[in-house]
Amino acid sequence: MFNSQKLKGRKACVLGFGKSGRAAASLLAAHGFEVLISEEAPMDNIGSFVLPASVTVETGGHTDRIFECGFWIKSPGIFPQNPVLLEAKERGIPVFSELEMALAFMPKNIRVFAVTGTNGKTTTTALLGEILKEDASRENKGRQVHICGNIGSPASLCAPLVKKGDDLVIEVSSYQLEDSTYFRPQFACILNITPDHLDHHGGMKGYIKAKAKVFKNQRAGDVLVVNGADAVCAQLVEKAKGKVLAFSTHPKHLLRTDVFFDGDELIFSEGHQIRPPHLKGIHNIENAMAAALMALAAAVPAETIQRVFDRFEAMEHRIEQFAYHRGVTYVNDSKATNLDSTITALKSFEKSRNLWLILGGRDKGASYEGLIPYLKDYCKRVLTIGEAMNKIEAELHNSVELMRCVTLEQAVKTAMDGAVRGDVVLLSPACSSFDQFKDFEHRGKVFKQLVNARIFKERMDGDK
Ligand code: ADP
Repeated sequence: MFNSQKLKGRKACVLGFGKSGRAAASLLAAHGFEVLISEEAPMDNIGSFVLPASVTVETGGHTDRIFECGFWIKSPGIFPQNPVLLEAKERGIPVFSELEMALAFMPKNIRVFAVTGTNGKTTTTALLGEILKEDASRENKGRQVHICGNIGSPASLCAPLVKKGDDLVIEVSSYQLEDSTYFRPQFACILNITPDHLDHHGGMKGYIKAKAKVFKNQRAGDVLVVNGADAVCAQLVEKAKGKVLAFSTHPKHLLRTDVFFDGDELIFSEGHQIRPPHLKGIHNIENAMAAALMALAAAVPAETIQRVFDRFEAMEHRIEQFAYHRGVTYVNDSKATNLDSTITALKSFEKSRNLWLILGGRDKGASYEGLIPYLKDYCKRVLTIGEAMNKIEAELHNSVELMRCVTLEQAVKTAMDGAVRGDVVLLSPACSSFDQFKDFEHRGKVFKQLVNARIFKERMDGDK
């Protein structure tokens, strides 16, 4: 367990110069540690980051200086099989996760809410965070709600702000969970588990094992919210020590559920009726159910949840309808970085084969074959881009009309040239963005800019 008193006087090595690495280094420096950040990749913009004086940085490879440090903090993106990590283990250097280190610097008597799952984490974390904030302001006793993790700011950035009695809502990825050993949220949620990040976890087994860590250390009295129609979740809960609450929108579920959707309202076993937020897709009903179950378990009144649901708006890059021009609708779902989230996006449309779907980016190891029936039902054309193009084309076996576009720019041009009134152009790539973009936000913004620039031009030309 990370114990800053015991580690005092030792030099810290933070592996990775990303968002969480930099935040971890700053937090350690604020607590009096000397820190070395070591980054494998070459970086030319280090100077643009302001870091405390006790933090030094090396990039473009790890030197032996890392082994002179007394303990390491690992950024979540780093492969567990990375040779330097294996060597640290051999040399007996303790390695801690950024999340667990950050938690160790927070007061013990706070409530920790953790949301994980393959898809829906950010939406559910945002919903739950808003609900708890609304509840705290209603209560007006100075309790603050901090929202952190994958959703935006790393836990290390939050840590100095957290005080006794506060709530912490964390979006936790499988990477962060994999590195955790004693993480124990009192309120945990697994939204769903379908194949993703298989390259990182060495297969489905490793991925499931990582996800299960969200409740591994829970005790009686803690709460675990799961998807009752998800086969993996249903199996995992057998090991739960806390109270299990399940949600489902499917008539066929594997666990006894505590909430169902009657087509209009969410009906809870305890008698509450809550209208879901105005978000597209049945998956968002599930996200709302999960957030509401966690909030109700934390004694939030149903009226508070309702107030938040009534004002909650669609989040950027998640089935975000951003333009409508000459009868064609444009939708940005850049956040769909795996097969399942792309299927979810397709299912939120009518089965009228009017979609121009932009697919591709960096492959994450799963097979695209599972998309075939959905592409047949929903798509007019599939436009492929990025590194995964060849694999996608090989695995879809000409089952749909494919157009090889290579770049997002070319895909937008092809779709906008070809789409007719009633069609939808959808970016829902089922791949990560790192082959051609900084991250999924960057990819989504570029997509919107390309579409909007062309719409602007056509409108101007039309006015002439
Ligand atoms: P995450 O943070 O887990 O990536 P987001 O809330 O950002 O999840 O949603 C990303 C995409 O995943 C959405 O655009 C949608 O296509 C899909 N998605 C969201 N919620 C769910 C869900 N509960 N089940 C399946 N797919 C979902």
